[in-house]
Amino acid sequence: GYHDVSGILQSIIHSFERAYERDVAFEGPEGVIVKTDEQKLKQLLYIFLDNARKYSDTPIEVQVVRSGDKAAIRITDDGIGIPKDQLNKVFDRFYQVDESRSRRSEGFGLGLSLAEELARALGSDIQLKSEVGQGTTAVIFLPLSQ
Ligand code: ATP
Repeated sequence: GYHDVSGILQSIIHSFERAYERDVAFEGPEGVIVKTDEQKLKQLLYIFLDNARKYSDTPIEVQVVRSGDKAAIRITDDGIGIPKDQLNKVFDRFYQVDESRSRRSEGFGLGLSLAEELARALGSDIQLKSEVGQGTTAVIFLPLSQ
């Protein structure tokens, strides 16, 4: 169905904040409408929120902006970051960055491989930008409904 991206994000962020007692700063206009599968989109967003939580200690930032004929959702953390040469590999099933091992108390390296499948099903593109020691931003592009 048709969904307001900011509305979906606010609802998922609300349950996420309660579940993990982590602050998420949200910024985004209302009225950015996409035709999408709400459950799949929520699962996709949750994977990136969960990674931001696991690999950082500071508040997570989420932004929605219009970008041409797409809605762009940015999920940013100020955490440990991902080495440039591994930015593509993290989407592989069971792949985990070595340096993050000490931080890791959960997980199998499956989240981002599922994210890739969900993105494909939703017609969505994903960009990961990261600096080691500074943090990571995931950008999820969704086609706008017009
Ligand atoms: P799970 O199976 O619970 O999803 P996971 O977090 O290890 O476990 P992925 O979500 O697939 O699995 O991520 C793969 C790897 O990419 C992680 O182990 C981590 O090394 C790295 N990674 C992913 N997101 C981030 C992030 N926001 N900051 C730093 N490293 C990250």
